[in-house]
Amino acid sequence: MSRFEGKVALVTGGGSGIGRATALKFALEGASVVIGNRSEKAGRETVDLIEQAGGKASFCRTDVTKPENIRDLIKHTVDSYGGLHVAFNNAGVDDPQAMTPEQTADTFDLVMNINVKGVWYSMKYEIEHMLANGGGVIVNTSSIAGLIGFPGHAPYVASKHAVLGLTKTAALEYAKQRIRINAVCPGAIETPLLENFTGGDNSTRQYLESLHPIGRLGKPHEIADAVVWLCSDEAAFVLGQGIAIDGGFTAI
Ligand code: NAP
Repeated sequence: MSRFEGKVALVTGGGSGIGRATALKFALEGASVVIGNRSEKAGRETVDLIEQAGGKASFCRTDVTKPENIRDLIKHTVDSYGGLHVAFNNAGVDDPQAMTPEQTADTFDLVMNINVKGVWYSMKYEIEHMLANGGGVIVNTSSIAGLIGFPGHAPYVASKHAVLGLTKTAALEYAKQRIRINAVCPGAIETPLLENFTGGDNSTRQYLESLHPIGRLGKPHEIADAVVWLCSDEAAFVLGQGIAIDGGFTAI
């Protein structure tokens, strides 16, 4: 029997990269999946991929910086599939490279609004629903940038450290109320976000590869596998953690 048969999963940022790979994996494991991101085209592409593979999925246009969008996303999920058991709060953006004093207030606000406030809004309404409906599991996407510093990326690093703070705090608050909350901290993963980061420059890519002791970048499905495990009963005793999936990057 599939691990998520009869379960309903929500994935923000499910139209691309890590979110798309995780949505596909949840569906493969039997879950009905709702994709929330801004681009309707990308979100519907993920839905098509899931349906072509024989799974169940639906799209709900969502900007995670808008609380009314998150409330609609949860309503859409419950109306479509009768519940919400698992949430992967994954939508995020990176920042332009600049030393700390040269970063702009606009960049700082944009990154914090999406990466931090978006995760907080998502948890706020997911927890409300889960509390009233017997519990659930939440995974947030932090980063190795949530564990260590990266010169030139103060807003992003600050945002991903904050995601871990939110994760640990909410996990402790609801530990006894059947809501289990964790985060994943991916290393550099081959997605459009990383492509944007390297600007398609091969030497930057090779430099990034060299920072991972395993000698390569990660694949979206390698994060998806960890997220789906964290959301499964096999991880029932894992709570309030930021799990590094990084080819050894932070082990040095
Ligand atoms: P990606 O392919 O660019 O996907 C990011 C997703 O987030 C897109 O679907 C995007 O869709 C969505 N998104 C962005 N802003 C949003 C908003 N305001 N509301 C709703 N959705 C929004 O990048 P990815 O690499 O898979 O990134 C996924 C997560 O992993 C991010 O949180 C990122 O910080 C984190 N991460 C990535 C890496 C890496 O190396 N790739 C490493 C560590 C952590 P729309 O723009 O259509 O909304």
